[in-house]
Amino acid sequence: MNIEEFKKHGHAMVDWIASYYENVRDYPVKSQVKPGEVFEQIADKAPERGESMDHIFEDFREIIMPGITHWQSPNFYAYFPANTSFPSLLGDMLASALGSQCMIWDTSPAAAELEEKVMVWLRDMLGLPSSFSGVIQDTASTATLCALITAREKLSNYQPNSDGLFNFSPMRVYCSTEVHSSVEKAVKIMGMGKSNLVKIGVDEKMSLNPKLLKQAIEEDIKKGYQPLAVVAAIGSTGTAAIDPLSDMAEVCEQYGVWLHVDAAYAGSALILEEYRWMIEGIEKADSFVFNPHKWLMTNFDCSAYFVKDEQALIKTFSILPEYLKTNTTGTVKDYRDWGIQLGRRFRSLKLWFVIRSFGVEGIKSVLRNHIRIAENLSAKIREHSDFEELSTSLNLVCFRYKPEGVTGIDELNRINKQLIDLLNESGKMYLTHTKIGDNMVLRLVAGQTNVTEEDVLSSWSTIQEIAAKIKSKTI
Ligand SMILES: *Cc1c(COP(=O)(O)O)cnc(C)c1O
Repeated sequence: MNIEEFKKHGHAMVDWIASYYENVRDYPVKSQVKPGEVFEQIADKAPERGESMDHIFEDFREIIMPGITHWQSPNFYAYFPANTSFPSLLGDMLASALGSQCMIWDTSPAAAELEEKVMVWLRDMLGLPSSFSGVIQDTASTATLCALITAREKLSNYQPNSDGLFNFSPMRVYCSTEVHSSVEKAVKIMGMGKSNLVKIGVDEKMSLNPKLLKQAIEEDIKKGYQPLAVVAAIGSTGTAAIDPLSDMAEVCEQYGVWLHVDAAYAGSALILEEYRWMIEGIEKADSFVFNPHKWLMTNFDCSAYFVKDEQALIKTFSILPEYLKTNTTGTVKDYRDWGIQLGRRFRSLKLWFVIRSFGVEGIKSVLRNHIRIAENLSAKIREHSDFEELSTSLNLVCFRYKPEGVTGIDELNRINKQLIDLLNESGKMYLTHTKIGDNMVLRLVAGQTNVTEEDVLSSWSTIQEIAAKIKSKTI
């Protein structure tokens, strides 16, 4: 493809993208394809000769698009959002165009220095302590793994890094039963063994019970285990429950245990002063992660990891083979030493575009609007005699259908599962579920960048209509 053809197709694709966003509500939110349907339509062999971009793009529209779940539809309420925005798209487009591999300062000084500055912006926007240093990771899963490995190395004077784990009594990590599965994955990857991840019980708000945490640590010490780290969920994945950070920090301080805060989703809300209570005690934490690629309008992937002891992180991950030695080594930030991967994309660019284009005030108004929309929906659900609201945290509402006359947990779970499936098959919205106790509940996250009150009210009408059909057995 030459430069003229690139311009022609580039402009056409930008036009296509703009009209996609204009019409994104018209697509079925959750892809309706069956397993194998896309695979079968794709040529069995790679083409020997180059094909025209018109032909490739046509296949994109005909074959690929039906197999896309539309995360940028305002009626996408499933999981947590993975938002984007036009400034983010443009920033990412430029990063792709530059194609820089930003592993060290020398391989693109601007990438290293912009990352450092944008992490300071974020730290201050969220009200994190100024002693924290930030680095962009691909995902929160990676950040949590980095946190736990750093904790281990620091606790054991970097011995495992040099000699392995053979001389150590088993280490233990603690978190609530509601914490994200990435903690379990990290513990498995680290070779600690899943059985050394201790799950602590929660209260009726699904927040970790700090008394049980203290008990568990004390019992473990008696048994000869080494308490390594506690992971606090600020915004659990099921219900966005908030763990009591301050109480947990006190326990961690008492026993010299690393405290990692997983605020992957809810971290964005800390930009709002009225939610800063969620991280009371943060100055005692050792590390913190949140994902701008979830609620902060920044394209996946972009996870912001903050650590108090920057040197411990670097000491854990640094490597210096001959081919990576440069004249600036040691005098600049070489982010390859701040995490697992060597090669790094220029992720700070899109984030910088987003923060500057929206402005902090603009970001706050988007977040507050989402929270207000969710709270209004929550009120409507509470008023409806056939529905039950089980929890509302930030912009996540958990509720279930509970029509009069239907009793018994199995039957309630069955009709709620049926309701979710029918809603998702309708193409009008995409919702997922969680369990609160034994109860199957619908999760609705009003968080896509452009979601409006009308979108959510119209979805609420659809939910009531389909639920009524289940009740009258007309479906
Ligand atoms: C989404 C989420 C994660 C995992 O995020 P990735 O960036 O996909 O690894 C971890 N913890 C919480 C609380 C989450 O909501």
